[in-house]
Amino acid sequence: MSILLHACCGPCLLYPAGVLEGEGTDFTCYFYNPNIHPYREFRKRLNTFQELADSRKYKYIIDRDYGLKMFLRRVVFKEDQRCKFCYQMRLGNTAKLAAEKGHRGFSTTLLYSTYQNHSLLRKEAAAASVNHSIPFVYHDFRVGWQQGIDESKECNLYRQSYCGCLYSEQERYDNRLKKQLKRKIKSDVQPPRSGHDQSK
Ligand code: SF4
Repeated sequence: MSILLHACCGPCLLYPAGVLEGEGTDFTCYFYNPNIHPYREFRKRLNTFQELADSRKYKYIIDRDYGLKMFLRRVVFKEDQRCKFCYQMRLGNTAKLAAEKGHRGFSTTLLYSTYQNHSLLRKEAAAASVNHSIPFVYHDFRVGWQQGIDESKECNLYRQSYCGCLYSEQERYDNRLKKQLKRKIKSDVQPPRSGHDQSK
């Protein structure tokens, strides 16, 4: 019985797939990334995934539905928590499909990215596992971060430069916003100034 490996894109699939092959784990890839912005970027990532999966002869399933509206309805006014909702959506759907199709477990290539919130991912995967009564197969794929990048360049794969949703696209390219976020992070970690001792 194989595991269902959620795949967010082609480049992030390379290293995890290599690990699973290396340890003899049978797996089926599941491309599910419905909130990528804009739509043409979604298509580009989907096509890159499919070309890679075909060339490597991986078993795969593709969800071609574009879920921007559903994602936005979920996160509006709660944008700061968007990654949690995004993980819940991707992992919940993967666990559900894995259970329906009789896989012995599920995992995700999101565990490969050093840009993702790894501990939150693990938490949401554990919840999806309980909700759908199917084991979550954990690997810390981040150890292969550079190896995966090198391999994707050798394969000439399209490599995106932002996570995916419309918010992440703005954070990547809007320099004014980047400065504001940096200032916010700085002020969040600043100790209270002398003369304003908050313990008093
Ligand atoms: S930044 Fe990435 S993980 Fe977070 S909500 Fe956007 S697409 Fe999802």
